[in-house]
Amino acid sequence: MTSDFEAQLRAVSLRVTRPRLAVLAALHDHPHVDTETVIELVRVDHPTVSHQAVYDVLKALTDAGLVRRIQPAGANARYESRVGDNHHHVVCRSCGAIADVDCAVGHSPCLTASNDDGYVVDEAEVVFWGTCPDCSAESTANDPPVGRK
Ligand SMILES: [Zn+2]
Ligand SMILES: [Zn+2]
Repeated sequence: MTSDFEAQLRAVSLRVTRPRLAVLAALHDHPHVDTETVIELVRVDHPTVSHQAVYDVLKALTDAGLVRRIQPAGANARYESRVGDNHHHVVCRSCGAIADVDCAVGHSPCLTASNDDGYVVDEAEVVFWGTCPDCSAESTANDPPVGRK
């Protein structure tokens, strides 16, 4: 796995460093986490890596296209290493959990905008909002029984 990450870094002409490998590994195992969580995950194996180093790595990886930054309205920026497939996200309004949503298999219908005003569209970012299974189970459990208040 580490050699995969090394190859990814080399493919975009980034130097292979331990913090960069650690961030890629963290995002591979934990997609859609915010910066604070990336720092925690990296520090499990590399306790001496600074906050600033993780910020810098995230920025370099995002600029190089190895990491995608998503920021649902009202939430912290999240990062993931699944890039280049134009997938979308569903976000829980209640707890902020995020899951991936694929475009229809084999093509990306969302890229066909109803009116593109002459722009050449190469990416569509759709955020679906709702309630995750955990939160909807919880709210059902907390609902007062019908007829009693
Ligand atoms: Zn939730
Ligand atoms: Zn995703």
